[in-house]
Amino acid sequence: MEDQFRAGPDGRTARVAIARARRYDRDEIRAATTKALAFLGGVESIIRPTDRVFVKTNHLNPPSPAERGIVTHPVFVEGVLSVLREATSHLVVGDDVDSRLGDGFQVSGYRAMAERLGVRLVNLREEGFVEVDCRGTILGKVLVSRTALEADRIVDLPKLKTHSLTLFTGAVKNLYGAIPAGLRTRFHGEYTKSADFAQVLVDLFSVLRPCLTLMDGVVAMEGDGPAGGTLRELGILLASEDAVALDAVACRVIGLDPLAVETTRFAAERGLGIGRLERIELLGEPLDAVAASGFKLPTGAPSRFLSRIPPPIARAIVRQLSARPVVLLDRCVGCRECEKICPVGAATVSDGKARINRALCVRCMCCHEVCRFGAIQPLRGGLPGWLDRAAGHRGSPQDKARGSPRNDL
Ligand code: SF4
Ligand code: SF4
Repeated sequence: MEDQFRAGPDGRTARVAIARARRYDRDEIRAATTKALAFLGGVESIIRPTDRVFVKTNHLNPPSPAERGIVTHPVFVEGVLSVLREATSHLVVGDDVDSRLGDGFQVSGYRAMAERLGVRLVNLREEGFVEVDCRGTILGKVLVSRTALEADRIVDLPKLKTHSLTLFTGAVKNLYGAIPAGLRTRFHGEYTKSADFAQVLVDLFSVLRPCLTLMDGVVAMEGDGPAGGTLRELGILLASEDAVALDAVACRVIGLDPLAVETTRFAAERGLGIGRLERIELLGEPLDAVAASGFKLPTGAPSRFLSRIPPPIARAIVRQLSARPVVLLDRCVGCRECEKICPVGAATVSDGKARINRALCVRCMCCHEVCRFGAIQPLRGGLPGWLDRAAGHRGSPQDKARGSPRNDL
């Protein structure tokens, strides 16, 4: 393994800084962040005082306590935010969080962290999604978080983890959390081949390019990530203005060929960042000093049934399997929250009751997530719906949806 990477001769290079951060201590993370950013010219060289900055964390659903190592650790976020605040006071931090069973940010420790700092914490689904032209390899248009889209700058705070489908989840994949949960589920089902799914991730990344990425590698996850792996102390923080290059270096740290990760390879091929190590200038801690030997990769490679059948057939099956929203009239109070959140105008309220236009609906399930009255329930059609009926699961969403008067066009 070479000592340090050097800038390539053609002038297209990226810089990635590595700093030691051995534990989740706010002062230690703050010092490591400052040190890493100093290699990149300092935080003020990247973020201006007038910039409205959205800080995107990895707060994987369902919400989990920080010590399980699934989310970007709140103390890591706190240390980084305390440095970013030196550059701008217009900071918003958050992710798309399932809070139907309570405050998900409370579970992870983010709520207390944001209150300590006095920084606005947002759940992306509460602020809505906007359809944007993506012109990607796979996605023509995509629904993107309004908060992320309206920010002047995005700062990406991924956690270093393995991933059963994409091998590795880092800076590029972390932006996937900025689309509605229903679409995330749908895309996972529709793009079952890892290469297709990686292209979807890169399509989204092309819309939401972070100006700065700081990766939580203090405690990483190896094995069957992103939620079921085992924790591995690496004691590092990585920083770069090039998210693709940062992912490449993080992969090298854990002994993975960076270009074996399709998001890195595709993003680099599309000119969205630098993926080849020989074009990356490594700053700070030498690679040999932080490299993790024997880092376990996922065992659950994409071997599911759907990945073995032709994509058009797989998509048709997923369409059958995916739920569509139905309105339970006896529960609807006409509050219009579903109408406000629906990104395509499919949910409307008239005569005090919500309606869903099935022809317009893209099944993102934002309306279901936002309705506080349980008046929008997911309903599956076709064979899955028939199986649900045959099984007769009383009390399930399917059952509730069947038993109430509905309102869909
Ligand atoms: S379905 Fe729910 S969110 Fe929509 S108007 Fe009725 S009560 Fe409000
Ligand atoms: S009506 Fe359809 S498109 Fe609109 S929010 Fe609900 S699931 Fe999404």
